[in-house]
Amino acid sequence: MIIQWWVMSNHPWTKTALDIRIWAEELEDFVPFEVFDVHTHLHDWSHYKEPSKSHGPYASTIGRHFPRATRAIADAVDASLMPGRKVDRLSFPYPYPQPVDVSSANSLIATEMADAPASAGLMLVQPDMTTGQIRKTLRQTGMIGLKPYLVYARKSTPANARITDFLPEPQIALADELGLIIMMHLSKRDAVADPDNIRDILILTERYPNAKWILAHCARSYSAWAIEAAASALRGLPNVWYDTSTVCEADALDALYTGIGVDRVMYGSDDLIGPMRGKYIAFGRAWSLLHADNQSLSLGHCEPGMTFIRYEQLRAMKRGARQIGLTQQERKSLFHDTARALIDSVPRG
Ligand SMILES: [Zn+2]
Repeated sequence: MIIQWWVMSNHPWTKTALDIRIWAEELEDFVPFEVFDVHTHLHDWSHYKEPSKSHGPYASTIGRHFPRATRAIADAVDASLMPGRKVDRLSFPYPYPQPVDVSSANSLIATEMADAPASAGLMLVQPDMTTGQIRKTLRQTGMIGLKPYLVYARKSTPANARITDFLPEPQIALADELGLIIMMHLSKRDAVADPDNIRDILILTERYPNAKWILAHCARSYSAWAIEAAASALRGLPNVWYDTSTVCEADALDALYTGIGVDRVMYGSDDLIGPMRGKYIAFGRAWSLLHADNQSLSLGHCEPGMTFIRYEQLRAMKRGARQIGLTQQERKSLFHDTARALIDSVPRG
C-alpha cells in the first residue's frame, strides 16, 4: 500500500496551540457548515519545466511546502483548518511561468474533479491558444471556465499588463458564447484602481455579457484604497463577482462589502497558500506576504507565533463586516450560496 508523504509526516497544516485558540475564540462561530471555495489551485511541481526552478522564486514556497496539491490534500487542509465543514471547490492549475506543461496541468484538474460532481474546474489558458484548442479541451474535460494569468502576457511585462494582453478578446468571446467563468487576477501597480483596468472591465463586461468574471483577491485590492477608488464605477455590473482569497486586511473587505455589495463576494482560499503561515500586510500603496523567514521583528513582548494565512483572511472577512453587520443568510451566501448559484449557472455539456 502506498502511504502518501503528507499522511505520514507532521504536515504543514498541523495546528499549533495558537491556531486552535484563534479558531475557537474568533472563527468557529463565523464559518458556516457549508463552504464553497472558488479559488483552489491543484497542481504538480513537475509540470513546471524550468531547469533552474529549484533556485527560483517559487522554490521556497509551493516548491518546498506543497510540490503537489491534489483534491485529497486540499480536503485534508480544510478538515484541519475548518473542522466539521463540508467544502466543495472551484479548482484550477497553479499558473507556473513558462515553460509549463499546460496540457498536464489541465489534465490533473480534469482527473481530480471527475468524481466530485459538486465541484468544478477551470482550464489554464495562455494567449497564444486558439479558441478551437480551448473549446476542445473544455468539451473533453467538462471544465467550466478559463484561468488566464499575467505571467503569460504578450506585449507588456506581467506587472503592467492589460487584461487583453494575457486574455485576448477571442478567448473572452468564447467565454461569452459558452457562458464560462473567467478567474481574473488583475495586473498593474494600482490593481483595480488602475484606469486602464477599470475601463477594460467596463467595456469587456458590456461587450461580452454572458462571460462571468471573478475578480480574484478582492480585485487584487489587498488594502482598501484600490477597491475604494474603483467601486463606484464597478458597482452593479451583473456579470462580475469577487473572491476574498488571501486578503488579510479587514479594511479591504469592508471597502468591498460596502462599495460593491456583499452579494457579489465569495469565499476563496487560494490554497495551498492558505495553510502557509504569515499574513499579507499592506502599507503605503504596497502589499506583501510577511512570514517567519522574511522579517526580524522584535517579538519578545508578546506571543510571537504566526498562524495560517487562511486564519488571517477569515479574521479580515469577519471584522470587515462589522460596519454592515452580516445576517446569517448573508454569511451563508458569502461562504457558499452565491458561489453555488454561479457555478450552477454555467451550462455544462
Ligand atoms: Zn490564486
